[in-house]
Amino acid sequence: MSPNGASDSKSNSERPVKIIIVGAGFAGLSCAIESRLKGHDVILLDKFPKLKVLGDIISFGPNAGRIFERWGLHDKMWPLCTHLKTFHLNTWKGDLITAQPLNEKEFGSYSYNGHRGELHQILFDHAVELGVDLRLSANVTEYWEDDHAAGVVSNGERLSADVVVGADGVRSKARAMVLGYFDQPEPSGYAIYRAWFTAKGSGIDEDPLSDYLVKDGDAFYGWIGKDVHMLSSSSKGGKDVSWVITHKDTADIEESWSFPGKMEDVLKIVEDWDPRCAAILSKAPSCVDWKLVYRDPLPTWISKKARIAVIGDAAHPFLPTSIQGASQALEDGVTIAVNLKLSGPEEAPLSIQAFEKIRYQRVRRAQRTGETNRDKWHQADDKKAVEDPKSVALNREEWLLGHDAEKHAWEAYPDTAKDIKEHGYHLPELPEGDVAAERVAKAREEYLAKAM
Ligand SMILES: Cc1cc2nc3c(=O)[nH]c(=O)nc-3n(C[C@H](O)[C@H](O)[C@H](O)COP(=O)(O)OP(=O)(O)OC[C@H]3O[C@@H](n4cnc5c(N)ncnc54)[C@H](O)[C@@H]3O)c2cc1C
Repeated sequence: MSPNGASDSKSNSERPVKIIIVGAGFAGLSCAIESRLKGHDVILLDKFPKLKVLGDIISFGPNAGRIFERWGLHDKMWPLCTHLKTFHLNTWKGDLITAQPLNEKEFGSYSYNGHRGELHQILFDHAVELGVDLRLSANVTEYWEDDHAAGVVSNGERLSADVVVGADGVRSKARAMVLGYFDQPEPSGYAIYRAWFTAKGSGIDEDPLSDYLVKDGDAFYGWIGKDVHMLSSSSKGGKDVSWVITHKDTADIEESWSFPGKMEDVLKIVEDWDPRCAAILSKAPSCVDWKLVYRDPLPTWISKKARIAVIGDAAHPFLPTSIQGASQALEDGVTIAVNLKLSGPEEAPLSIQAFEKIRYQRVRRAQRTGETNRDKWHQADDKKAVEDPKSVALNREEWLLGHDAEKHAWEAYPDTAKDIKEHGYHLPELPEGDVAAERVAKAREEYLAKAM
């Protein structure tokens, strides 16, 4: 059944939809899991040879939490996550701005913040249990589509399906091959040093400048200053610790998750700051230096014949300050699976067009919060922030966090599909007044000219 009680068997087709998904990150796994739950046949391809517990802290808001909960994964995921009661936000000098209470549940669901690799493993195992045909060491090098099918070439083998979903991450090949769109990432002017480590043996629990982060279960502390902010938290009852520090950096625009950072560079950023910052940062045995690049929204996420879509980071990379990149990737996957359930294989391209229509503006609004949140913290005036803590508190807005992607897709699909059938397909617009409107309009013109 759908969340609003509608029957799951809406399409009249006698055969399941066949779907190939490229990339077993959170976007690809979400699409694969929801597709199996909707009865589709799924092949999921990833070039990695075996699953490794990679990355560090990742955050899923309640809009993603309700998806995990519907899949029955709460009991597996929750013990691995941070259990936070309060967010202590300070000025760079150490004055407390706010001790913001955090609710375990918001808008009816939990937030899940934990180690990316550990949470990823749970979804990965769940996809296999549901019968996803998961193929590793499968490097996809070509995409194709015609009026009847779409497919890929993986390790030289040609595979075909009703639709293909490119969920191949921020450096997506699908984006370039499917859309004919080679985007040039621009430096955002910022980079992040990040670390995740075991508290025991790090000294963090022995130093009065850092022990409060682990000694009474999980805790969450932040500091904000001109063009820099630092966040640190513990998880699993204070067993693991992670921190991120976002700072000005115009030196390099290479994106990478594994670029090693130098601890002396990290400590230099906070040399005049509240000494608690250096005390926490210095306990990490190592850290990663991750450059943040900026991309304008793509003019479209779908191929000319609407049998191939890009989703997740391949379609719309997020700045971490939105705290929404992974959640939006999950919403994408679920929406495609529901749409395909409603369209059936015969009208599969309609479901891909409807996917873009349903998601494009919402994703862009969510993406913009990455810039507005960052600017709110990086441009805050210390005195004003202490006087008016709400001006720098974490945003907890219902339109973003209360959204139910599955329910929304069930409700929005019929009218969206009808509109496309009656009026033809038109690329979606950015929200009114968007800062990137002019650039995206130009990119769209170029894209459409090529399409003719
Ligand atoms: C190793 C790794 C570590 C990360 N760590 C963090 C973290 O600590 N914190 C955080 O907030 N975010 C992290 N991210 C990013 C985060 O997972 C994403 O921003 C978000 O979850 C959206 O995911 P996605 O599925 O769109 O993309 P991704 O998670 O990037 O997944 C894309 C997948 O596509 C596969 N792929 C790419 N090209 C091909 C190809 N040609 N053929 C077959 N497969 C292909 C990749 O191997 C990868 O598994 C990490 C991503 C990766 C890949």
